[in-house]
Amino acid sequence: MIKLDDEQRMILETVRRIVAREIAPGAAELDETAGFPQYAVDAFAKNGLLNCLLPAQYGGVELNMLTFSMVLEEIAKACAASALLLIAQTDGTLPILHGGSEALKEKYLRRLSGESKVLTAIAATEPSAGSDILSMRTRAARKGDKYIINGQKCFITNGSVADFFVVYAYTDISKKARGISAFVAEKSFPGLGYGKNENKMGMRGSINSELIFEDMEVPAENLIGREGDGFVNLMKTLALSRLLCASQAVGIAQGALNYAIDYARQRVQFGKPIASLAPIQFMVADMAAGVESARLLTHKAAHMFDEGEADQAGVLAAMAKFTASDTAMRVTTDAVQILGGYGYMKDYPVERMMRDAKLTQIYTGTNQIMRLVAGRELLIPRED
Ligand SMILES: Cc1cc2nc3c(=O)[nH]c(=O)nc-3n(C[C@H](O)[C@H](O)[C@H](O)COP(=O)(O)OP(=O)(O)OC[C@H]3O[C@@H](n4cnc5c(N)ncnc54)[C@H](O)[C@@H]3O)c2cc1C
Repeated sequence: MIKLDDEQRMILETVRRIVAREIAPGAAELDETAGFPQYAVDAFAKNGLLNCLLPAQYGGVELNMLTFSMVLEEIAKACAASALLLIAQTDGTLPILHGGSEALKEKYLRRLSGESKVLTAIAATEPSAGSDILSMRTRAARKGDKYIINGQKCFITNGSVADFFVVYAYTDISKKARGISAFVAEKSFPGLGYGKNENKMGMRGSINSELIFEDMEVPAENLIGREGDGFVNLMKTLALSRLLCASQAVGIAQGALNYAIDYARQRVQFGKPIASLAPIQFMVADMAAGVESARLLTHKAAHMFDEGEADQAGVLAAMAKFTASDTAMRVTTDAVQILGGYGYMKDYPVERMMRDAKLTQIYTGTNQIMRLVAGRELLIPRED
């Protein structure tokens, strides 16, 4: 159990207040209308939460990973899509933070400082390159002081609303992983087009877009690091992003568990609350044990990142991601069961939570890939 300091307690108290006042009330309608939560952007920006990991050097609040993990959990308890907004925002800034030159950091990270509402995204996935990211077809070719990018990305969270985003493309396909490069692209760049925004099962209050690059012009100084650095940059970003997804999944599961407990205490059948029935108690006990276990693993991974133990943290984050998301799926499904027929109705939030939970098993690396990552790290010694 990790003991919180006064500052962390204060941050979480503030987040709980913001969630209760500004995020939770709109969650059901956001899901129903599949809109974009501009009100969440406004609330997060006003309270310095839109860019939680942004270093103080660039005007950010620079939370550590553990605190950010808990912030995401608080938000996801009420509205997983609003938590996803913050995760996408972080995913779009980490590659620059990890690999960008000082000039690139000043140019882009500075734009996120204070109460900025500038949005970012990360664009790696393509229609034929998901888990197998090396099969990406997007290409970048140097032409004078520009790179010309051609290709297509899909499913990009915040894609069509992002002011700038990080895009991965081959600069030299013959070098495979070492031939992928990362660039910062802006909404206004010539040659950038948008395809459809996806119509999704869950996480409907989040925008996922196709991005189309037809001779998109990117200034050469927007290359992150050097040519060929992109794959390592992406893997480093995803290792952290998995932890954020795990935190979101813990929040979804806790939100569903809380709701199911309240409901079971009030719902009377056969003359007494269903909370007094052993099968319901067993279910709740298993749900709570799952959430606690997932949370501990997630916090441990976050703590290892904060301690600078990136390799160990990466494996723990992969384990936390599949454990927390599988738990979220199980717990939300059981929450629907505890509510019976009402659980199946959109008047109650648990069916939304169940649909939202499903995504956490898929995005930022599927749970099959997470098991491969963790299993390989545990079984096969690294060459370096
Ligand atoms: C809502 C949403 C938001 C997303 N946001 C972003 C984003 O912001 N940026 C971005 O770049 N991407 C994003 N993604 C893409 C996401 O990361 C991919 O969907 C995910 O990595 C899986 O790729 P895929 O969908 O192509 O599935 P595939 O890779 O085609 O996988 C299909 C199935 O095969 C399994 N599989 C594949 N390879 C293996 C293997 N080697 N061993 C075992 N099983 C395997 C998978 O686990 C899965 O069950 C998002 C996706 C969604 C749905």
